[in-house]
Amino acid sequence: MENNCIFCKIINNEIPSYTIFENDDVKAFLDISQTTPGHTLVIPKKHRDSLLSFDREDARNVFQYIPEIARAIKASNTDIKGINLLNNNGEVAYQSVFHAHIHLIPRYSEQDDFS
Ligand code: 5GP
Ligand code: ZN
Repeated sequence: MENNCIFCKIINNEIPSYTIFENDDVKAFLDISQTTPGHTLVIPKKHRDSLLSFDREDARNVFQYIPEIARAIKASNTDIKGINLLNNNGEVAYQSVFHAHIHLIPRYSEQDDFS
């Protein structure tokens, strides 16, 4: 738990979130500002500022679950045709919350667009 980290507070249920997957290593919950419906964030339970401070165990602890979380998101809505993964590290890379997170962004058709 890092002081004043909003994602640590989400892990501790001090801030509510719509959780779609959780175990001892990770929590996956809906992004508060959905790029597309079902936009999900996957975060390690252990606070890390970004991917740049992961060791191999941290990497395993998060990434081993990404395929099954992505499949669960896709299975939740037959209109979802694909999923983008996005990860921002550092302010210049548009990271705004400094607890590492992977975005899973469902895509609904070739026409849907986001910036
Ligand atoms: P970043 O820009 O750091 O890659 O992404 C941070 C993401 O966290 C943003 O997409 C933002 O909407 C999301 N976010 C920020 N605060 C909260 C919150 O309190 N709850 C949830 N569910 N998402 C949040
Ligand atoms: Zn944190």
